[in-house]
Amino acid sequence: MEQFAELPARFPKVVWERGFSFSRHTTIGCGGTASFAASPGDTESAAELLVYLRKRGIPHCFLGAGANVLPADAPFEGVVVRFGRLNTLYADGETLFAGAGVTGGALLRFACAHGLGGFEAFTGIPMTVGGGITMNAGVAETHFSDVTATVIGIERGKITTLSHRDCAFSEKFSIFQSGIAVTGAYLKGKASSLCEISRRLETFRAKRAHLPKGRSMGCVFVNPEGDSAGRLIERCGLKGARVGGAVVSKEHGNFILNEGGTSADVSTLIALIKREVERKTGILLREEVRRLP
Ligand SMILES: Cc1cc2nc3c(=O)[nH]c(=O)nc-3n(C[C@H](O)[C@H](O)[C@H](O)COP(=O)(O)OP(=O)(O)OC[C@H]3O[C@@H](n4cnc5c(N)ncnc54)[C@H](O)[C@@H]3O)c2cc1C
Repeated sequence: MEQFAELPARFPKVVWERGFSFSRHTTIGCGGTASFAASPGDTESAAELLVYLRKRGIPHCFLGAGANVLPADAPFEGVVVRFGRLNTLYADGETLFAGAGVTGGALLRFACAHGLGGFEAFTGIPMTVGGGITMNAGVAETHFSDVTATVIGIERGKITTLSHRDCAFSEKFSIFQSGIAVTGAYLKGKASSLCEISRRLETFRAKRAHLPKGRSMGCVFVNPEGDSAGRLIERCGLKGARVGGAVVSKEHGNFILNEGGTSADVSTLIALIKREVERKTGILLREEVRRLP
């Protein structure tokens, strides 16, 4: 930690937190602590910070709402860059600009207040816009790839605008998983009445009612082509499988719940599921969740 002690003084406008706890800031609720978390207040200071961290070889990673990550148990001698202060929202016709730190809930409320539909499928997905774009989050009907026009990002310290094509969206993937930071995005909505938006919100909310409650990362694995990872896991008899405090949900095979375990417990359970599913079905599951740091 001492080697980064100068960071807060060097970047006084960034909000710093020492001894940042991953378990307190992730939905899975496990993982160790990081030396520092840094929350820049605008894109320019985020870029300056990232240039400095790169030049000095200071390890760093990005964190949104922490809803799709599995942080390591070991202490992280580095900086967690967070985007919560990049929370600008404005509408220009049917286009919305949302900062990377805008939460899914805030995005929906804003869109609704401006008579813009098209985002209702995101209801109930815990996320920030930055994390949602990085993971191409969504449900069958709508993913971020369907609503994103352009993204403002930071690539190798330079602020850049990425077109939809540049984002290379695919199933639970985008170019931002290669380390480009999302700082904001222009999203396309569709003029809709409050009544239509409310009806669609209700429909999507109802579809999520069956999802398991408790600490999780949502779905752990990407659905293989033409199949469902949850069903494969169930068919292999793995519902309820447990390693320490980590357990496969009995309601949904693709959810791992943390009942007071460690990241190592979750990791070992993930490895066990992959091994068993491949042995019994020949299908190698791809992890959706991202390891940190
Ligand atoms: C109960 C539950 C239900 C869920 N349901 C769904 C669902 O229906 N559909 C779905 O798609 N997902 C679902 N998820 C997963 C999760 O909500 C999404 O993946 C969401 O997009 C994660 O956003 P986040 O802000 O939490 O990102 P994080 O989990 O914080 O980060 C995810 C990845 O993005 C990176 N990242 C974060 N912010 C940025 C940024 N600004 N720039 C660059 N990289 C960044 C991180 O380093 C990490 O690699 C669910 C999760 C939970 C816990």
